[in-house]
Amino acid sequence: MCGIVGYVGPNLANPVLVEGLRRLEYRGYDSAGIAVMNGNGLETRKAAGKISRLEEELAASPISGNTGIAHTRWATHGAPTQCNAHPHVDCKGHIAVVHNGIIENSSVLRKQLEANGHKFVSETDTETLAHLIEEAFEGSLEDAVIDALQEVEGTYGIAVISSDDPDKIVAARKGSPLLLGIGDNEFYVASDASAILAHTRDVIYLDDGDIAVLDRKGYHVLDERSRRLSRKVSRIDWDLDQIERGGFDHFMLKEIFEQGASIENTMRGRLLDGEGTSKLGGINLSDEELLQFDNVVITACGTSWHSALIGEHMLEEMARIPVEVEYASEFRYRNPIITDRTLCIVISQSGETADTLAAMREAKNRGAFTYGIVNVVGSSIARESDGGIYVHAGPEIGVASTKAFTCQVIALLLFTLKLARLRNLSVVRGREIIEAMRALPAQIRKILDSAPRIEDLAEEFKDSTNFLYLGRGYNFPTALEGALKLKEISYIHAEGYPAAEMKHGPIALIDAEMPVVFITPHDSVFDKVVSNVQEVKARGARVIAITTGEEPALAGKIDYEIRIPPTIEMLIPVLAVVPLQLLAYYIAVKRGANVDQPRNLAKSVTVE
Ligand code: GLU
Repeated sequence: MCGIVGYVGPNLANPVLVEGLRRLEYRGYDSAGIAVMNGNGLETRKAAGKISRLEEELAASPISGNTGIAHTRWATHGAPTQCNAHPHVDCKGHIAVVHNGIIENSSVLRKQLEANGHKFVSETDTETLAHLIEEAFEGSLEDAVIDALQEVEGTYGIAVISSDDPDKIVAARKGSPLLLGIGDNEFYVASDASAILAHTRDVIYLDDGDIAVLDRKGYHVLDERSRRLSRKVSRIDWDLDQIERGGFDHFMLKEIFEQGASIENTMRGRLLDGEGTSKLGGINLSDEELLQFDNVVITACGTSWHSALIGEHMLEEMARIPVEVEYASEFRYRNPIITDRTLCIVISQSGETADTLAAMREAKNRGAFTYGIVNVVGSSIARESDGGIYVHAGPEIGVASTKAFTCQVIALLLFTLKLARLRNLSVVRGREIIEAMRALPAQIRKILDSAPRIEDLAEEFKDSTNFLYLGRGYNFPTALEGALKLKEISYIHAEGYPAAEMKHGPIALIDAEMPVVFITPHDSVFDKVVSNVQEVKARGARVIAITTGEEPALAGKIDYEIRIPPTIEMLIPVLAVVPLQLLAYYIAVKRGANVDQPRNLAKSVTVE
């Protein structure tokens, strides 16, 4: 999910590689490494933490060569340590691999390879690739890579070098971006053009399934059966800034647009379609133990607290277990009722949120089993919780959380499926839910097509000073999240409320100056929400409604409509939040706010 850069040519690889890694820094990473090839074979250097640490390593113990690969890692398997940093090498140290993505069947492959005598040194999924290629190697690196990849399930962008087939880089992609850079008798591979833009603007974007071979004389692209493919050379005319954000104006917008792919990553390898349940590696509990819990407490802050509220609905509805959601900052100073039969779910994007971490420790002290839902691998919550799941959203750089939220909801549903199927959810219902989950990425992409319309809407509302967001059931948390996004980045005052609760107070605020965003999918509370829309409209408010289809009942009662595709009730928040994120984003941009770094906010709140 992070960065790759490779170089083959007449010049020294190291400076090109380190500079390339620096260009990739903006994407976020937790460790870095480099391997080069020279007359002495392969030499690698790695460091946990910043690239400057890697440079210190290189200064203390220099290496040089004309062919090399380098990597910034965003850990998915194993903590962000020096040992787990890439490149990974085979047993003999003749093959070095850098990899972005996830090898889903790595534990099975690792067992087989260990049984064949291969010695592993890291905890990563990536190291299996180095040993698989070693196993398949018979003189040609590309043949070995092609053979090895036949065994692999998952996603990858890889670059591989070998001292047994020197002065060559073999690169391959499936599901992770990778491109070739074409220079003058020198060639590059990179996960993102910014890494090589200082050297060339001529690139080939590889397609899934492509295997590229680069040496000093040229390059060619092969398919999975070693047949040559022709690939078009494109000329990049974006500037560096644009490339870093993937052509988007801000990281936040890029991350909103990534949500189809990011939730695919959350689900990847974890759904058992036939059985209507999920498979969760890090749960660390047997099915019998999972059945022992009497209650669930979910604790989190901010956006994660909103996903927790959705998790509460899911768990209570399907697993029929009592759930309480607590602000971590409140929980830690109360005297909460926790027993050794309490399951405490802790949610944090960074895994370092100070209040959430403290709440988790408190729950642990009181005997609860703690289950972390975090994005950052190896973070404090990931390390200290008794079990957990990584959401695999990839680095989130915009301070206002977007893709981490939708991935958290999916992670909560994966857990719910597991528990509910053990308790009393039927296989048929489990399958229906999985089918709806699988449809989400395409549905999100469809919603994103309506971004220009939402931008127009933002123009209409950009000067408002207050907003109300209303929804019921699963979409009360959606309303809270929509309001929070707007507050965070546009500095417009916004409130989220349960739609029917409005009449107990906030209705007093409503007049023609108060835009009201209603989340009105055609769900079990639709008719009730329509009445609430009526109440608001009668007081002159302008109403924006998020709907899931043609709604005659809303005719004449709403001013603007944003349509999202229909899905099962519990998944509406994952779709409905997307236009709300876009609305907040465009309003903030039109007000000239610093969207990626809103005032007073930090990405990872590590203070109390
Ligand atoms: N899954 C690999 C690891 O955890 C690659 C992570 C990445 O994309 O940076 O090492």
